[in-house]
Amino acid sequence: METEIIRIKKDKGEGLSPEDLKNIEHAGEIIKKGGLVAFPTETVYGLGGNALEPESSKKIYAAKGRPSDNPLIVHICDFKDVYEIARDVPEEAVKLAEVFWPGPLTMILKKKEIVPNETTGGLDTVAIRFPSDIVARELIRASGGFVAAPSANISGRPSPTEVKYVIEDMSGRIGAIIDGGEGEIGIESTIVDLTVNPPVVLRPGFITNEMIGSVLGEGIETDRAIIDADSGLKPKAPGMKYRHYAPKGELVIVEGKDEEVLSRINELLKEDRASGFKTGVICCDENSDRYDADAIKLSGKKGDTKEAAHRLYSILRSFDDENVEKIYSEGFDREGFGAAIMNRLLKAAGHKIINLNQVERGRK
Ligand code: AMP
Ligand code: MG
Repeated sequence: METEIIRIKKDKGEGLSPEDLKNIEHAGEIIKKGGLVAFPTETVYGLGGNALEPESSKKIYAAKGRPSDNPLIVHICDFKDVYEIARDVPEEAVKLAEVFWPGPLTMILKKKEIVPNETTGGLDTVAIRFPSDIVARELIRASGGFVAAPSANISGRPSPTEVKYVIEDMSGRIGAIIDGGEGEIGIESTIVDLTVNPPVVLRPGFITNEMIGSVLGEGIETDRAIIDADSGLKPKAPGMKYRHYAPKGELVIVEGKDEEVLSRINELLKEDRASGFKTGVICCDENSDRYDADAIKLSGKKGDTKEAAHRLYSILRSFDDENVEKIYSEGFDREGFGAAIMNRLLKAAGHKIINLNQVERGRK
């Protein structure tokens, strides 16, 4: 299959040109006819198909090589469309939508019959998001209003934040790829389950538990199964159980006091280099010249979680581009948005972590 590349000329904040709109209209037609289109969002690139057509959802799973029990998020471009696909919509959903939509928040609600089981992985709930990216919104409108879209990567690889990685993974597999520049946030939406009381966060993201809690007036917890990999619990978001976001090289996180982390990583790098491995490090800007590794990737200023999230997946992909075999990352503070970064980093590392503050529990 030949994949069309559609380039959007939008300058951030300037809106879309008539030519952009025409091209998006064309991409919408591809989805309406049962095809797939990758498109930019404020989080990562999505791989979109008609959410109400079982055949389209099947094509999404096939293009990604994604296990079919891992449900898709349905993207909408108007809040009132929630009522078309969800039933018993609770007051909390309306409150959260008022504050966080359009934006990087996905809500799990009870599904209506109209949403096929192929889209929800057989669940009787549906994940819904109203993205803020203007290209995403126009595409959803042009596609008929309900676009099922997981991240536009081959299953198991880091989500694409730049179009070159979408092209790498999806070229030849789908109808079109819309190039809309880099996603601002860089990691996937927060998922909150509103079918339980109190609501539970199933995947941390830019919208933190504190932000959700402040709107709902109650403390919000994260699904225990994803906080502690050793809990033996099954994550409520089926996708969270898969190893994910992984670079091809082995990644280990080292957490602890700054200087101790530095010297431990340097020790490990020395051993790996002696064994002939190509090595890499993810560290804050301040430590850029303090590691002896083949590839050093900077996550931004220390404590700048927004910048770290924005860069994370491109960093993981760049290690693959450079064939790095052993990678070490400094840990991030787990407060606020940092929780989402550590969640993704831990998954990328297959939960291999050396915590210098505790007894070592790396599982090498
Ligand atoms: P992705 O599309 O790659 O961002 O992944 C979507 C995530 O949403 C996966 O972790 C899914 O398991 C999760 N998800 C989608 N629908 C549901 C649902 N109805 N209930 C729980 N989790 C869901
Ligand atoms: Mg994904």
